[in-house]
Amino acid sequence: MRRIYMDHAATTYVDPEVVQAMLPYFTEFFGNASSFHSYGREAKEALEHSREVVAKALGASPEEIIFTSGGTESDNTAIKGVMYANRSTSHVITSMIEHHAVLETCGYLQEHGFDVTLLPVDKHGFISLNHLEDAITNETGLVTIMHANNEIGTIEPIKEIGRITRENDIYLHTDAVQSFGKIPTNVDDLNVDLLSISGHKIYGPKGVGVLYVREGVKIEPVQFGGGHERGMRSGTENVPGIVGLAKAVEISQREMEKESKRLIRLRDRLIEGVLKINDSWLNGHPTQRLSNNANFSFDRVEGESLILRLDAKGIAASTGSACSSGSGAPSHVLTSIGLTPERASGSLRLTLGKCNTEEDIDYVLEVLPEVVSDLRRISAI
Ligand code: PLP
Repeated sequence: MRRIYMDHAATTYVDPEVVQAMLPYFTEFFGNASSFHSYGREAKEALEHSREVVAKALGASPEEIIFTSGGTESDNTAIKGVMYANRSTSHVITSMIEHHAVLETCGYLQEHGFDVTLLPVDKHGFISLNHLEDAITNETGLVTIMHANNEIGTIEPIKEIGRITRENDIYLHTDAVQSFGKIPTNVDDLNVDLLSISGHKIYGPKGVGVLYVREGVKIEPVQFGGGHERGMRSGTENVPGIVGLAKAVEISQREMEKESKRLIRLRDRLIEGVLKINDSWLNGHPTQRLSNNANFSFDRVEGESLILRLDAKGIAASTGSACSSGSGAPSHVLTSIGLTPERASGSLRLTLGKCNTEEDIDYVLEVLPEVVSDLRRISAI
């Protein structure tokens, strides 16, 4: 059976070039980067070269890069680390559509005496700059707003948000896990102080990520031990993973412009075709969205059944009908943009990637209308 992967926002395959770059660091160059002997030095050299590659892609300096275990850890460290280090402030501002790595961390802070403001978003998923300005108080120490949303692909106006945080002398963190490698993420252009990246969303390995911390930002570590990563993240560095992440970063910078144009063409064809199905909607903004993201709702269709039917036809996709915890609750992102729980339950996220072709779009456009109408027939019975 034909198999089509359209769930690149969940994870990506590892680019063969990345695998090749990583392999020697499991076997030949297996040293601990903290060791003084030649094995250690080889690992350390790879680690520092990787740091330079990542720094260059962000327009940062190597001392501003901390390697972590992924996007979740980067988000946790940014938020808890800044708030615990700056005890004169006790208020965090975020949005209702953040990833759980941000929302749950803010929730944890709230349980421990901090104030948290959750900014609403409009029907496309944009936060309002006026709402942000209104939410700022003398106590605000951090604003954390994602660069692009993982479910609906909406790209937030981070640069403008950064102007406001700068004027008010507040740190700005952005979760760039979905945007990095798809749109430019120069930290100076974006006016951000902290930024999170994850390896497995950019054709790199799982379990490795980056936290960028602008020089001068007061931040505390959240993980203690041997003082790795200049004391900011203790734990023996995952050298093969970090080498792989750096290679993935390098490839993403090389391919971004061309690949984005290709993906936008595929995405827009997909959107046009899918919207021909009766009672279907596009979630998120028509153009201010990630090049690879298409998110739809279908009336009278249950998302999980849709995913199972598509899977049976070889198409891997995802839905916002049940969150990863299996609670069955509709997606907080879709309800925040105003969808009723019913409409949020009938959602389908198709996220494209390097392996997708025009033929894949043809196949989805052939299969999806049949599947939707089948499910509607059953639901009408
Ligand atoms: N932030 C966003 C926007 C994400 O999409 C994800 C992963 O789905 C994460 C954070 C978590 O990243 P990781 O899986 O590397 O912990």
